[in-house]
Amino acid sequence: MSFPPTKILINPRAAEQQCLTLLQTCTTLLNLTKVHTHILKLGLVNNTFVLTKFTQTSSDLNAIHYTSSNILFGPFSKPHLYDTFLYNTIIRAYAQTLEYKTNAIDIYKNMISYDIMPNKFTYPFVLKACAGVGRLRVGQSVHCSVVKFGFDEDVHVLNTMVHMYCCCGCVGSARYVFDEMPKWDSVSWSAMIGGYARIGMSTNAVELFREMQIAKVRPDEITMVAVLSACSDLGALELGNWIERSVEREKISKTMQLCNALIDMFAKCGDVDKALRLFRSLDRATIVSWTSVIVGMAMHGRGLEAASLFEEMVNSGVVPDDVTFIGLLSACSHSGLVDEGRKYFDAMTQEFHIMPRIEHYGCMVDLFSRAGLVKEALEFVENMPIEPNPIIWRTLTAACRLHGELNLGESITKQLIKKEPLHESNYVLLSNIYGKMSKWEEKNRVREKMGEKGMQKIPGSTMIELDNKIYEFVAGDRTHEFYKEINEMIDEMRRKIKMAGYVPTTSEVLLDIGQEEREDALYRHSEKLAIAFALLKTPPGTPIRIVKNLRVCGDCHSATKFISKIYNREIIVRDRNRFHYFKDGACSCKDFW
Ligand code: ZN
Ligand code: ZN
Repeated sequence: MSFPPTKILINPRAAEQQCLTLLQTCTTLLNLTKVHTHILKLGLVNNTFVLTKFTQTSSDLNAIHYTSSNILFGPFSKPHLYDTFLYNTIIRAYAQTLEYKTNAIDIYKNMISYDIMPNKFTYPFVLKACAGVGRLRVGQSVHCSVVKFGFDEDVHVLNTMVHMYCCCGCVGSARYVFDEMPKWDSVSWSAMIGGYARIGMSTNAVELFREMQIAKVRPDEITMVAVLSACSDLGALELGNWIERSVEREKISKTMQLCNALIDMFAKCGDVDKALRLFRSLDRATIVSWTSVIVGMAMHGRGLEAASLFEEMVNSGVVPDDVTFIGLLSACSHSGLVDEGRKYFDAMTQEFHIMPRIEHYGCMVDLFSRAGLVKEALEFVENMPIEPNPIIWRTLTAACRLHGELNLGESITKQLIKKEPLHESNYVLLSNIYGKMSKWEEKNRVREKMGEKGMQKIPGSTMIELDNKIYEFVAGDRTHEFYKEINEMIDEMRRKIKMAGYVPTTSEVLLDIGQEEREDALYRHSEKLAIAFALLKTPPGTPIRIVKNLRVCGDCHSATKFISKIYNREIIVRDRNRFHYFKDGACSCKDFW
């Protein structure tokens, strides 16, 4: 770029115009620094028009930080004379960066300290910056300012406020702002639904989506992505299918993010073949798409397919990341592919230079433990370069219990309790081990200790989606609206499966009670309640899909196999770790989970 001699430019308007034109042609940071020098020579360092254009250009060139520290807030600057528009431009430029979002907040604070009035364009960017870095306190003070200056009727400002509260974990405040809004657009609904989905309040997300439909607001692709993530969490396949159809019907733009959300939903709702078909139909699969199908295969115990997808991915030139490896290693673990798991774990560091995180070590311990290689698992843990976390120790103890290494399990669990005296699952593990050893007295003592410390076991709960409604069953719940019918059905199930040879696994029961009562407690497990309900409410032959919050217990697993045969139903159970397909008296996990 060429610069005209400065001395002939006496007319300030002409000088200003010249700088604006020069800025328009800037394409590099070097150009920008030259224009900066030029501005200094012309004495335009406090010209708001020039500074605004300078800020916009540097934002496009990803150089806002340079401009801010050298020019806008440099030695010759007079920031108290800037106008709202210039401040908005600076705040927006900072809020859009990845690394300097906090500066957007600082600039906003400067602006307020100079008594420069914010307007309705100022707030959304400050709020986005607060959301991005989780600055709730500032977000709240911005909220006050919004009310004080009378912008609390502006939908755009309020939408970003809802988003900010959700991102800062204050979903209640977000909902309050949302409910008080004078009107809502699709962005408002998406912000609130997305907020619920992100923190796992998926039922609320789905409920709000239904309200959005009643309000006849057309959802966009962002809404759909949020609802799909809630579906994935709930295992709500009916709703997920409906979303896919309405994306087609309403011609909602199928962005990469939406396609990936659909793949993830189908994989997590039990239709992994559909996920795979959708994946195959993509023009260009991203790392997220590949990882979703690999994780999907892992959850369905299709380890070999997960491994071959992984090979295909690498061959196609997509570089795996650490999340892909979690999927791949857990695929090996769920399918008992010990050698492959070892191979990929080594390849991860040696070939792909990814440092294993605690999650990857966890997958390996899980892999050995499930395969019954308790000694190898222990050796692996002892040789880990990082401190094993309690999750790893708990995996190991569960393996000890499953494979009869009870004394080892007992000693590890006692150590765990010393380390984490308030973590209830440690006590549950120890109590289960004593149960298996038939040490009822010790088991009782553990239960008493739990009571003293005020801890309780996380109640098992199972969800089922029927006719567009999600029903939740909690273990031992006798208050359900269909309790009586379900109870009768359970009695029938119990009679029939016993005749077919089912023997209850009463060692799963925590309480030191008689055989009869322990058996009874088993029949109140949430998945049995949900299955009984589904048998009652769906026509013969319909597959039953349920989602359990914890790992399926051994007794429910065995009972479900019998139920699938006697009632001639496919039963698809997603537990905390994976899917189980029960059909004709067998499960896809081959009793290995
Ligand atoms: Zn159970
Ligand atoms: Zn199974």
